[in-house]
Parts: sequence; structure tokens; C-alpha cells
Amino acid sequence: MSEEFDIRAQQGDSEVEKALRPLSFDAFSGQDKIVENLRIFVAAARMRHESLDHLLLFGPPGLGKTTLAGIIANELGVGFKVTSGPVLDKPGDLAGILTSLDENDVLFIDEIHRLSRVVEEYLYSAMEDYRIDIMIDKGPGARSVQLTLNHFTLIGATTRSGLLTAPLRARFGINAHLEYYDHEVLRRIILRSAALLKIQCSNEAAGEIAMRSRGTPRIANALLRRVRDFAQVKGSGVIDTEIARYALEALNIDRYGLDEVDNKLLNTIIQKFKGGPVGLSTIATALGEDPGTIEEVYEPFLIKEGFIKRTPRGREVTALAYEHLGAKRPGMDDLGLFG
Ligand code: ADP
Repeated sequence: MSEEFDIRAQQGDSEVEKALRPLSFDAFSGQDKIVENLRIFVAAARMRHESLDHLLLFGPPGLGKTTLAGIIANELGVGFKVTSGPVLDKPGDLAGILTSLDENDVLFIDEIHRLSRVVEEYLYSAMEDYRIDIMIDKGPGARSVQLTLNHFTLIGATTRSGLLTAPLRARFGINAHLEYYDHEVLRRIILRSAALLKIQCSNEAAGEIAMRSRGTPRIANALLRRVRDFAQVKGSGVIDTEIARYALEALNIDRYGLDEVDNKLLNTIIQKFKGGPVGLSTIATALGEDPGTIEEVYEPFLIKEGFIKRTPRGREVTALAYEHLGAKRPGMDDLGLFG
């Protein structure tokens, strides 16, 4: 492990994270299009006293999938149960949860792409017909009985939409793809969190933290808490621009919010492949990573921020990447244009 403060690994303290979690659409910033649509679907379901259609949320970690699922349950005025793909080991585990749901409740399954095949197949009839088969007794007397479930809404969350099977995907009526947040929205989220945690933080300082939060609210909240530590020990407890810059510097937070994996990916393309274009699978082999993970988890932020371009011949780093890493662009210096 490097000594750098690993911003992507910041899971946050779960108690604090809970306290900062918005509970209503009004308190949730950003993802405007998605929220606008969800408000309508939720209002319609309420008017008809029906369960909301099953919903699939895609997007990198920390962008608010769990938060949105909780908000939907709140706004529907129904119960909310949370579980995750890897935890649901056997169909029996899933049956236990499904039979405990009240009418129109929301069941949230995080990392739904990690459900085992048997559990996933068991889920199909529950999602479609609100029915499951359960086994009663063991041995020769064993028989299967069909149970009718209360209507419910399944909200599945995944960071890896590419790993979802077609039959599972087809059973979701609504799909939403969460995007990275821009600085302005993150600044608002930081100011809201600061108010909830009773931290005094200036507008500009919140902007400084926002810029380095890798487009991710979870990282923004984690950085706010780390910067607060510096403000308390090194300053007056108030977060102003000066202490924010000092703290972010001391924490080794990259100017653009890039983390170790991001920088390694850019460096690999620059150093091993002359800046590209280079195919995704070639990059993946060089990094010892799965191509799908690079495509769905690491690369989207780098593309959004303009460090990498997708071209028909593969991935190419941009001038911004060279500038950021202090690397020389091959060919350019020969022309006397660069460096
Ligand atoms: P995910 O499930 O996508 O990994 P979470 O829903 O757990 O992400 O969000 C991580 C943290 O970020 C939450 O504790 C929440 O406080 C905060 N958060 C996420 N999205 C928003 C948002 N749009 N507005 C305010 N806070 C947010």
C-alpha cells in the first residue's frame, strides 16, 4: 500500500454516512433527469396504490444508488429492506426476505451482478408473478409449495452493468444510469453535509474540496471530514480556503481528484503504448485488470474529465493527461511545440 490517502477506498464511517444521507428527493442534489422521472413514477404508483416498477440503478460506487433507493421507499411511504448479491447465498435466504416484505415494500439488492445463478433464477418468478416455490420437509417427504408474495419493488444496484444477464435486465421496468457529479453540485452537497455536521465551511473552501472529490459525493463527504481534522488541529476549526488547500495538499489529494488507479492507467497508456491509441484488452493485460472493470469503473471518470478519448482504434490519452503527469508528448517536442 502506498502512503497516499486513498480517496476511492473511503467508505466513510457508516454512522456518519447514515446521518448525511438525504431522505427525500428535495434533499438529493444532482442527477436531475433521473430524479425528475422518478418523482413522476413514484407519484403515479402512489396514486394507483400500486408498487413501483422494478428499478435498476447503474453507476460507479459512491454516487448515491443506496441513497436513492432509500429515498424512493420514503417517498412511496413503504418499508425498505437492504441486502446484497454476495450475501444471498441460497434461494432460501432470498425466500426469507421476500416473504417478510409488506405490500408495496422496496427491496434493495446492492451488487446485484454478484447474485449466484440459482438465486438469480429464483428471483425471476418473484419479480414477474410475485410467486416463489419453496421446499417443505426434507428427504422422501420433501415437496415444493408455491407461495404468493406481497407486491414489492426490487431496486437493484450495480457498478458493472456489463455483467448483468439479459433475462435479469429484462425484468426491470425502469433503468437509470447515475453520472459523476459536477463541481457545483458537489459543492452544494459539501455545504449541506457541513451544516449537518455543524462544521463551518466557506463557499470557496467547499469548492476546493468539490474539485478534488472525483465527481463522487461519498469522497466529497470523506474529504470534508478529513479537512475538518486539519481545521481543528492546525486552524481555528473553521474551514476556509487556506486550511482546505493546506489539508488537501497534506493528504496528497490530486489536483483533479484522480487516484492511484487513475494515474496508473494514464501512465501505462503513456509509457507502454506511446499515449495510444491502444485497445482496451491490451491496457487491461498490462494493468492486470479485467477489461470490463476498466471500461465501467475506472475509465468513465477519466473520459468525462477529458484525460482519455475513445477512438475507433482504441483509447488515447489527451494533452491534459500529459500535462497532468508532467510527461512529454512523443513527437511534439521534436516539433518544438511541447515541453
Ligand atoms: P452508492 O450506493 O452508489 O455506493 P451511496 O448511496 O451509499 O452510494 O452514497 C454515498 C454517500 O454519499 C451517502 O452517504 C450520501 O450521504 C452521499 N450522497 C450520495 N449521493 C448524494 C446526493 N445526490 N446528494 C447528497 N448526498 C449524496
